[in-house]
Amino acid sequence: MAEVTLFMANATIHLHRHDLPDGLSLGPTVAVDTETMGLNPHRDRLCLVQLSAGDGTAHLVQLIPAELGGRGYDAPNLAGMMADPGVTKLMHFARFDVAVLQQAFGITCAPVKCTKIAAKLVRTFTDRHGLKDLCRELVGVDLSKQQQTSDWGNPELTSDQLAYAASDVLYLHALWAKLEALLVRENRLELAEACYSFLPARCRLDLLGYEQPDIFAH
Ligand code: MN
Repeated sequence: MAEVTLFMANATIHLHRHDLPDGLSLGPTVAVDTETMGLNPHRDRLCLVQLSAGDGTAHLVQLIPAELGGRGYDAPNLAGMMADPGVTKLMHFARFDVAVLQQAFGITCAPVKCTKIAAKLVRTFTDRHGLKDLCRELVGVDLSKQQQTSDWGNPELTSDQLAYAASDVLYLHALWAKLEALLVRENRLELAEACYSFLPARCRLDLLGYEQPDIFAH
């Protein structure tokens, strides 16, 4: 079975195996998140890429290694969208997802916007910049993080895993709208854009091992 559609209470989830379907456009700004086997892009494989146009529908692409009957990272439609200069990728903590996508597909993932960077630039009164906290406080949505550390390498993902994975992209457009207004209010939108422009290079540095010590550190 290549395609599965789940209808949740307030969302529709499409699970695609191996790649996005031909001809699917998700508009000029796509919310993107990834699930991996762990936090080391050199060691831990990319298992799932979640996307949403911000319309209550999530598209989940499951990448399955050839040894398990899949196509690995042979996903030209997905890779093309992630590299498309006409499609802005909206992420939360883009530094991780961009590195993972660049490592997996050998692309430059740009342009990118990051809700975590935006939150850190304007919400300086708190150190709580997690997606769950931001969605609760700015969008009024309570995200479950129960499946965060589950086994994303299982070829048969549970409906709980799919619902959790989808929820990480379904509210990013709404969250970005709130944060963009705050960036404008605090006159930091231009600074945020400069940070976003640098993200693909920051991720290349990370992948090359320049994150420790940081080249910007003394
Ligand atoms: Mn996630």
